[in-house]
Amino acid sequence: ESGAEVLSTGGAAIDAVVAAVSSMEAGGAFNAGQGSCLTLDGEIEVDAAVMDGADLSYGAIAGVPGLSNAVALAERIRTDSPHCLFAGPNALKLAAQLDGFEPEAATPSPERIRKWEAHRRENPVAPSLADQLTALGGTHDEGDTVGAVALDSNGQLAAAVSTGGIWLKQPGRVGDSPLAGAGLWAENGCVACAATGTGEFIMRVALAADIRARVQAGRTVTEASRDALGALRER
Ligand code: ASP
Repeated sequence: ESGAEVLSTGGAAIDAVVAAVSSMEAGGAFNAGQGSCLTLDGEIEVDAAVMDGADLSYGAIAGVPGLSNAVALAERIRTDSPHCLFAGPNALKLAAQLDGFEPEAATPSPERIRKWEAHRRENPVAPSLADQLTALGGTHDEGDTVGAVALDSNGQLAAAVSTGGIWLKQPGRVGDSPLAGAGLWAENGCVACAATGTGEFIMRVALAADIRARVQAGRTVTEASRDALGALRER
């Protein structure tokens, strides 16, 4: 609804996706912002990105501790920085220097803490890398990453994503979401897409870039998505 409101008043696709993802971060119902999955240490670390299909401009953050309005910071990086991706606590230092940007703190809700305790009881010692890969599907039990794509009345495409990652991720672990070509893509006249699922698999096949290539080669968006997912499963 937040995104549709931007579009219906003649707004740009990029503003619509940021509005849509921002509202999902704030609600706490999804795996983003306030509702983020927690790390092995019970903390929130977020990844987010935005991409404007008009000029392929892209802004992203990765592994940023305790930030709720992650997509807004990714958007300010896209518009105000010569760089694309900032990682960890230094992204918060950058945020403090941005005129008019107000970082909003994300703190785990009592419900998220109970969930974390339950996951920790099932995993009393830190899972090995191999165990983590096998268990990833199992820890994806609710509240996926949020994403939005939009096409505005000027034919502009945009995409945005925001996530807390996966339950019990090792601190510092970054998923596919902040990576253009993996977790999202937007390109006018071609496609806008946003991914959800286990980042370790999405990254390895550069899923969003694969969908883009298939659309470029003449497939419909539906065919391209289905075939790219099929290729991922096969690999
Ligand atoms: N793709 C996200 C990640 O791996 C998780 C998700 O989609 O829920 O970080």
